[in-house]
Amino acid sequence: MAKHKGPHKYKRVRLDWGTREGNSFKRTKKFVFRCMLVNCTHFLRKEMVIGQQSLCWYCGDIFTVSPSAARLQKPHCPSCGKGNKQVVTPQGMDAVMQQLHREGGQ
Ligand SMILES: [Zn+2]
Ligand SMILES: [Zn+2]
Repeated sequence: MAKHKGPHKYKRVRLDWGTREGNSFKRTKKFVFRCMLVNCTHFLRKEMVIGQQSLCWYCGDIFTVSPSAARLQKPHCPSCGKGNKQVVTPQGMDAVMQQLHREGGQ
């Protein structure tokens, strides 16, 4: 299976399964970080994902997963953190918005 280039893109998912042992049924719930890129089946335990490179869910940049990022379902880079969220606009949209704004003001 062809593997993608560059770092994985981790997302926190919950594994939930049960095992039967004799008369008792044991239920296990566990969080792992799965790579969400196409054709990639890579995943890591939460403890292992810290310090790994990942792709930011907001800006797509490569960043190193910090312990606080590992608490998120969709880990993001420090610059996409609280209060500093980048708005990703398609290229050239800034100019369009400015023009619309100017026309609206006339
Ligand atoms: Zn991957
Ligand atoms: Zn980011």
